[in-house]
Amino acid sequence: MNQIYLDHNATTPVSPAVLAQMLPFFSQHFGNPSSVHWAGRAVSGALETARERVAALINASPNEIVFTSCGSEADNLAIKGTALAHQDRGRHIITTVVEHPAVLESCRFLERQGWRVSYLPVDSEGALNLDLLEESITAQTVLISVMWANNETGNLFPIAKIGEIARRHNICFHSDMVQAVGRTALDVKAAGLDLAAISGHKFGAPKGVGALYVRAETRLEALIHGGHQERHRRGGTSNVAGIIGLGAASEIVSRDLDQSIDQLKRLRDRLEDGLFSALTGIHLNGSVDRRQRLPNTLNLSFAGVAGESLLLNLDLKGIAVSSGSACSSGTLEPSHVIAALGVDPTLAQSSLRFSFGLENTEAEVDYVLEQLPPIVQRLRKMSPLI
Ligand SMILES: *Cc1c(COP(=O)(O)O)cnc(C)c1O
Repeated sequence: MNQIYLDHNATTPVSPAVLAQMLPFFSQHFGNPSSVHWAGRAVSGALETARERVAALINASPNEIVFTSCGSEADNLAIKGTALAHQDRGRHIITTVVEHPAVLESCRFLERQGWRVSYLPVDSEGALNLDLLEESITAQTVLISVMWANNETGNLFPIAKIGEIARRHNICFHSDMVQAVGRTALDVKAAGLDLAAISGHKFGAPKGVGALYVRAETRLEALIHGGHQERHRRGGTSNVAGIIGLGAASEIVSRDLDQSIDQLKRLRDRLEDGLFSALTGIHLNGSVDRRQRLPNTLNLSFAGVAGESLLLNLDLKGIAVSSGSACSSGTLEPSHVIAALGVDPTLAQSSLRFSFGLENTEAEVDYVLEQLPPIVQRLRKMSPLI
């Protein structure tokens, strides 16, 4: 059976070139990078090269990179670490309703500890109102956190403009950049960021490694206390092989960025155009202007069909996608992101996300275009919803 993986916003395969660079660090280069002897030194040099590569990916300095265990940890460190470092100044945070749970749940945790959080709404295409953002700022505001690109819709946010607002009010600015790496150009300096999170497994490095950019001189409390690793910002012996993989993947995606964007866009546009011409009753979730979305992401609702049934039927044909609803306790909960667009709840439950990677081909898109329309038509005939 064909196996077609169109769920790269959930995770990506480790690229063979990345794996090859990692392997020696499981065996011959086994030293603890904090050790001063030869075994440690062989590893600490490689770790610092990886740090330089990650820094170059986002236009940071190597000493501004803190390695973490994942993107979620990087988001937690940015938000809780800033809140703890600035609590004498104020206890108010501004974020959006469409953030990843790593951001939303960190904010909810702080709310339970007495912080106030403003969750900015988005419009029907998922865009933020920057006037509203600026009006939400108070003398107590210590952090603004807005993602670079949304994982479900692919929507890009006006990060540089938000950076300008944050700077004008002297407020720390964090962005969850996890979905943006390898899919758009990233420059933390031009964007006016103080903090930014990335995750290895979303761009060809392994699971279990991430990084937080922390602008030099930014006040941040550590969350994991222990040794002096990561300039006292994250205790614990480094995940050496994972970090080597993160560095290798960073170098590859930086080198190939323009070509990757073109390739991803071509695949995504072929699917988007093909589905809109083959089917009626489909609704785009996210920005209608494709340039305002990641080049690899397409999120659609198929009126009259449950997203979950579509997902299972596509899986039977070997096609892996994700649905915008999660089955919890037997009921389909529409995703908080699709719900935030104000999409009718039944339509929200009929959403599917297609997310491309560089190993996908046009032939795979054509296979989806062959398989999906008849499935939708068949399910619609059986559906009590229309
Ligand atoms: C995947 C993802 C994360 C979490 O990264 P992990 O490394 O899986 O913890 C955070 N934010 C966004 C936008 C993501 O897509």
